[in-house]
Amino acid sequence: LYETRREGSLGRVNLAGRVPPGLKNKNLRIVVTGGAGFVGSHLVDRLIERGDSVIVVDNFFTGRKDNLVHHFGNPRFELIRHDVVQPILLEVDQIYHLACPASPVHYKFNPVKTIISNVVGTLNMLGLAKRVGARFLLTSTSEVYGDPLQHPQAETYWGNVNPIGVRSCYDEGKRTAETLTMDYHRGLGIEVRIARIFNTYGPRMCIDDGRVVSNFVAQALRKEPLTVYGDGKQTRSFQYVSDLVEGLMKLMEGEHVGPFNLGNPGEFTMLELAQVVQETIDPNARIEFRPNTEDDPHKRKPDISKAKDLLGWEPTVSLRKGLPLMVSDFRQRIFGDSKDDIS
Ligand code: NAD
Ligand code: UDP
Ligand code: UDP
Repeated sequence: LYETRREGSLGRVNLAGRVPPGLKNKNLRIVVTGGAGFVGSHLVDRLIERGDSVIVVDNFFTGRKDNLVHHFGNPRFELIRHDVVQPILLEVDQIYHLACPASPVHYKFNPVKTIISNVVGTLNMLGLAKRVGARFLLTSTSEVYGDPLQHPQAETYWGNVNPIGVRSCYDEGKRTAETLTMDYHRGLGIEVRIARIFNTYGPRMCIDDGRVVSNFVAQALRKEPLTVYGDGKQTRSFQYVSDLVEGLMKLMEGEHVGPFNLGNPGEFTMLELAQVVQETIDPNARIEFRPNTEDDPHKRKPDISKAKDLLGWEPTVSLRKGLPLMVSDFRQRIFGDSKDDIS
């Protein structure tokens, strides 16, 4: 059965044996590791909507069943509690590999586990891709650029990463995951794709994951001060989750390996972000300065020319448009109501 559904050397054919048109209705069997998390669950929604069968593999370290509960009972959806550090046998056409904590607070919680998840977890998923001839997509990160000396960052930049710092378990873990991915591709002919994702926000983020957007939104809603770390002049570029999911799917379906930066080039200082949160939720929200964390990158902004040219992708949702959508979700989860976002 699966032989007829495989991609790779057999070409892409669906169960009926026809070459499927465009992105729609391929009826592929797809595994999403980390699919119970923030980005993964939005990706699963889109794949199910497209008609694919989706297997989520997740150890629930930061993911939640709540993010997927609306698919329970759908025969095209399956959820497996599994840690990607352990091997797993599945029969699939595509692998979206997201399993890895993404918030600095989460990935620093058990740094050894973080690097093992990135290295051994990615190795296992590449081994799986090799065995069944599936196409493999790695969700890497803008953190591979470290504290960048080039601005904005293009994919050609090799980065400025501290190999022995508190963020290294994540940064170096993802860099090694990229290396493994390229070595399986070059050495074994595995079909691979690499996305370098820049800061992404939206509904279903963990409320207390310590990332700046989730912190500011939760703080403003709870009438707590917005905690700005350092002088607040460091920058990030914030991408709404639906833009990212679109980019990931275009990358998977396209013909290019990458790496591709997927991010929104709109760059904000943390003080500017605090201001947008004030405008969106509570103009009277106070700002409180806190010491910054170690090795915090000073600036970050994607050069997305490559994704625009080769994938025909660019983000469409600005921070001011995307933030209210996240605020509604946070308001509902914090207070249990669904009032509009402006107080
Ligand atoms: P998230 O923490 O919400 O999701 C990660 C998911 O992976 C969770 O469901 C978690 O339980 C699962 N997981 C973690 N370790 C696992 C393991 N060993 N085995 C099985 N499951 C495991 O984070 P997210 O924001 O959705 O990020 C998803 C991916 O995108 C990550 O790989 C992350 O590095 C990458 N990324 C995200 C961002 C961002 O801003 N959100 C930026 C750059 C890269
Ligand atoms: N692997 C897996 N599922 C599979 C195939 C492989 O989890 O369907 C794991 C396997 O256990 C190994 C890793 O992927 O740890 C790399 O596999 P590969 O076959 O490339 O390497 P080898 O096992 O030959 O060292
Ligand atoms: N940050 C902040 N206040 C917070 C949380 C984070 O000012 O409550 C800052 C943090 O120092 C960093 C930026 O926001 O400069 C982005 O941090 P985040 O943890 O969201 O993501 P990353 O550092 O991985 O880009």
